[in-house]
Amino acid sequence: MNSPHPATLEDTVTPHRSLVGLMQRLVAQGVNRGASGNASVRHGRGMLITPSALLPDALTPETLVEVDMDGRYSNPLKPSSEWRIHRDIYLARPDIHAIVHTHSTHAVALACLREDLPPFHYMVAMAGGRDIRCSDYATFGTEALSATAVQALQGRMACLLANHGLIACGPDLGRAETLAVEVEHLCEAYLKARAAGTPVLLTDADIEEVLARFDAYRRGQLD
Ligand code: ZN
Repeated sequence: MNSPHPATLEDTVTPHRSLVGLMQRLVAQGVNRGASGNASVRHGRGMLITPSALLPDALTPETLVEVDMDGRYSNPLKPSSEWRIHRDIYLARPDIHAIVHTHSTHAVALACLREDLPPFHYMVAMAGGRDIRCSDYATFGTEALSATAVQALQGRMACLLANHGLIACGPDLGRAETLAVEVEHLCEAYLKARAAGTPVLLTDADIEEVLARFDAYRRGQLD
């Protein structure tokens, strides 16, 4: 299989161009629709984030908004209405440098059941553990949503937001994007398996072994 964390273009293109390309790919793949979803990357004294309510076709590097950790920004366009959850995740998690947020169909469907994604497939461990948790419900854009998301992300790089969507994080934009697409796919596969029967879940030992192999893979000790 391919590496779960393929090389990214971050070293060769600006974060502005990376972010625009990412948003356009997510629409092309059907992960985002219209102006739903947003993404950010650590930048300068804060982050660079997609603007509020702008369709991906209209997105250019100039439309991206630099927001500092106090929420101040300098751009005629406002940052995404969900900038706070990005800021609060960066404050809580020094290991996270990029965040992708989607309202993708299958992640939303599972999030509306308010269920965690269990270890039904080994790639669930790509988010860092045996499951991908679903947060409690809170209104979008609020501190309460940030708090429950940070809690659901403990020890993980992804979580579901109850009755809302998906958060996927990474050490860079490329890995956050890869994880967002993977988690959406896993949610789809899990819901299909559930519709067909009762998925057999992997054990904690199975997941530990997968995590060890992912780690060895990252360190170049496996093909
Ligand atoms: Zn949202």
